[in-house]
Amino acid sequence: MKWTKTLIQTLREDPGDAEIDSHKLMVRAGLMKKVAGGLYTYLPLGMRALNKVQRIVREEMDKAGALEVVMPILQPAELWKTSGRWDSMGPGMFRLKDRASHDYALSPTAEEMVTDVIKGVISSYRQLPVTVYQIQWKFRDEIRPRFGLMRSKEFLMKDAYSFDTSLEAADASYMAMFNAYKRVFARCGLAAYPVEADTGDIGGKFSHEFHVLADAGEDGIAVCEACKYAANLEKAERKIVPSPAPGHGADTPAVEEVATPNAKTIEEISSFMGAPASAFVKTLVYMADGKPVLCCVPGDYDVNEIKLKHLLNVKTLELAPQAIVEDVTGAAVGFAGPVGAKVRVVADQALKGAKGMICGGNKTDVHLENVDLERDCMIETYADLVIVKDGDICPKCGQRMVIKRGIEVGHVFKLGTKYTDAFKAVFKNDKLEEKVMVMGCYGIGVSRTVQAVIEQSHDANGIVWPASVAPYQVVVENLDPDKAEVTKIADDLESALEAAGIDVLVDDRAERPGVKFKDADLIGFPVRVVVGSKGLANGGVEVKRRCDDKSATKIVPVDGAVEAIKAALA
Ligand code: ATP
Ligand code: MG
Repeated sequence: MKWTKTLIQTLREDPGDAEIDSHKLMVRAGLMKKVAGGLYTYLPLGMRALNKVQRIVREEMDKAGALEVVMPILQPAELWKTSGRWDSMGPGMFRLKDRASHDYALSPTAEEMVTDVIKGVISSYRQLPVTVYQIQWKFRDEIRPRFGLMRSKEFLMKDAYSFDTSLEAADASYMAMFNAYKRVFARCGLAAYPVEADTGDIGGKFSHEFHVLADAGEDGIAVCEACKYAANLEKAERKIVPSPAPGHGADTPAVEEVATPNAKTIEEISSFMGAPASAFVKTLVYMADGKPVLCCVPGDYDVNEIKLKHLLNVKTLELAPQAIVEDVTGAAVGFAGPVGAKVRVVADQALKGAKGMICGGNKTDVHLENVDLERDCMIETYADLVIVKDGDICPKCGQRMVIKRGIEVGHVFKLGTKYTDAFKAVFKNDKLEEKVMVMGCYGIGVSRTVQAVIEQSHDANGIVWPASVAPYQVVVENLDPDKAEVTKIADDLESALEAAGIDVLVDDRAERPGVKFKDADLIGFPVRVVVGSKGLANGGVEVKRRCDDKSATKIVPVDGAVEAIKAALA
């Protein structure tokens, strides 16, 4: 392929709305063009990279025994009503009506539709297990579409769904996908780590997200370098070391009121009283399915609302509005505490046995000192309720954890019978008894993966593509396109590389070498070959890998060029 025949537009300036490098580079290197917030056109270069990721995904899914299907993006509302998600998906799902006023959704995912399909196809245990997958566009009305393809309104997802006869059999299907995901991301040149993830409303222990570690990642991940425990902060646990908070174990005198005018936040009260944040009990008032609950955590931690929601086993959980806080505590916002509370109180496990603590006094401008939680409060339950922090103790091995940022590129999930129950997706077992199928679901953000590769692999000059997903693996820079003998060598090289199955782009533009090299670096072709009359007079063509610096450039004779390029790509 010749550069002048493709539609490549490179830009010198970063797009104004791009916050992270990979987004800037995708636009500047001419991989995509913004249509509107969260909507992009994939230009030819971007489409090639997207296709390469798709090909890898498809090959690994096929190898794992999954069967490719494609389901409509337009999904009748009835499917969503059957599972109850027509309501629970909320405004994140795009909805529309046809001319007869029938409701539809634009697929944000496809558990409902696939369950309905499989229910109609499978009737016997002999047909199970089965895993189907599709690579299909998904739509989500994200609150904040941003970071280019990372969080867009329309994105390409590979979604797979497994159906099994039993929970044990479903484990095997889950592991097959888990392992296929590892291979997919490795082949894309990505270091993606499986991370324990929250299972949402479904429960159970079986959910892993695959994360690419990057500062630009939207998710926090607790990682233990020692034992490789890794968990999304939504889920990550910590081990409580003995006597974690001040006052543990010590005998505490009676509770005393302290006047703390206007000191509401932990920071304010901590500097006012000259005590560390860990000496305080932070108390927040929540509305759980509409009823007020107090949640207490150590002052130096934040409440993990996902854990709290699981503990309370409620559908909705939100911070109580000011009026409710005032009603529940009898004080202005900022002075809630567990002593004498009129409503349910739950507390983080680290507070069990804590004495000598400081907490809100349920009176405006008042805090309490010397609080012994067991003696002075009615705590209904102690449980793990905090977001873990850097330096917390690993629950598995006892070493210290670090917090990193991650980009979720994939998610594997054991669903159980949530959807198969709702759709009555049953099969007959060998005794001709009717049983409900057990399901798993598995997603890869294909378009997000393309950008994650760039986020993980770029430098100040541009993208540094791994050969497996680069739009073209090799760029041949013809520095003298007006000279027939140079052009013939460049074109012959193009044919020879194509014959060897290598994607190659010949830069045949009449531009200065500096411009051509800058563009090549920006787009990030893994191997650059320079063909010019000067170089040819000096013994051949130049071969350089994008990931190496200038000093690694090799001059190779024309007849050895294909071998040298192959070696550079390997
Ligand atoms: P996130 O937590 O990032 O919103 P999710 O957990 O809602 O993602 P899943 O429902 O697990 O996403 O979807 C499977 C995969 O699809 C995700 O792992 C991610 O790679 C990708 N994905 C999800 N939402 C988007 C989006 N708005 N834009 C691009 N890719 C997305
Ligand atoms: Mg997910």
